[in-house]
Amino acid sequence: MNSDEKKERQSFRSDWGLAVEIDDYLWRVRLQNKRGRIMVNTYVLKKDDVLAVFDPGWPWTLDALAEALRDSDLGSIESVTHWIYTHSHVDHMGAACLLNALSFSPHYASKWLEPHFKNWHAFIDKANDWIPWSEGAIAEEHIVALFRKEGADRIAKKAPLSLAHGPGEVKNTVLLDVGQTLQLADFEFQILDMRGHDPTHIGFFEKNQGWFISGDAILSTPTPISVAMDDDIDLYRASLNAVLDLDVKLLLPGHGVHKRKNFRRSVERSLRYLQSYESLVIDSLHTDKKVSLMDICLADNPELLDRDATYASVQIALVDSHLQALVRRGIVERTEGPYYQRNR
Ligand SMILES: [Zn+2]
Repeated sequence: MNSDEKKERQSFRSDWGLAVEIDDYLWRVRLQNKRGRIMVNTYVLKKDDVLAVFDPGWPWTLDALAEALRDSDLGSIESVTHWIYTHSHVDHMGAACLLNALSFSPHYASKWLEPHFKNWHAFIDKANDWIPWSEGAIAEEHIVALFRKEGADRIAKKAPLSLAHGPGEVKNTVLLDVGQTLQLADFEFQILDMRGHDPTHIGFFEKNQGWFISGDAILSTPTPISVAMDDDIDLYRASLNAVLDLDVKLLLPGHGVHKRKNFRRSVERSLRYLQSYESLVIDSLHTDKKVSLMDICLADNPELLDRDATYASVQIALVDSHLQALVRRGIVERTEGPYYQRNR
């Protein structure tokens, strides 16, 4: 069967979203997100007595997931045997604790997340609170005020998880380590180190099928890297370089469409995004004049603050990640404010 015929497999669409069979035993489910624009790819593997769900999604799309499994004849929340996660962000792992109440099956997640399972909701809320970062990163008080307002609006609109559901403990966890293999029916998923977008990010590579469930490490747009969430540009670059030569036949990203061709080109594009942001930062700096993070961001995009607050904050944090990496490498000097200057 060639790759075009594979597109003609089963699919189901309803109010809950879209489920598509993308390979034998493998489904991509995209659930309607009533609270925002971002949709997540949830992957479902069903073979023999295994019903595994990778990245079940937002806390508020659980009902949609239950309907999707049922309407696509895949099963039910109760019949899921494995809950598996690429990384900790709320769109991928925000429902983990709530699932404990609905399912007895274990949660497979990166060993780096272990310290946070006890206070899961508080951990997620803290990662999504970018105010402390903005206060330290942005020199202009009126822009920090925008961040404070955006944060307050967000809290008013959608209550933080710990307010809505308590501190939350993820129970029944199985820790995954890089290099280890996760056996699901007769599939063998190798655990890959994909840290960067999230300091706990892992990927799942099934060598015989050429499947790579890559979370948010390789997207068609620049992967957000945010110092506000302890993300790390250097780790991210290393993760991308390490998978360049992987024999991937089906790239299964956390957002956007899956890809059957040119895996290497997709990774190279992500690396190029890194390069272009780094160049943007370096080109905006001077050896004889100090500039702020906002000066750099606005030089690249003067209309940035007219865009919606989430977009603007993701962009600013991404630029700051590059800036801080350059400070670490001794290329840029950071002084009180903070303001930045290129070292001669
Ligand atoms: Zn994501």
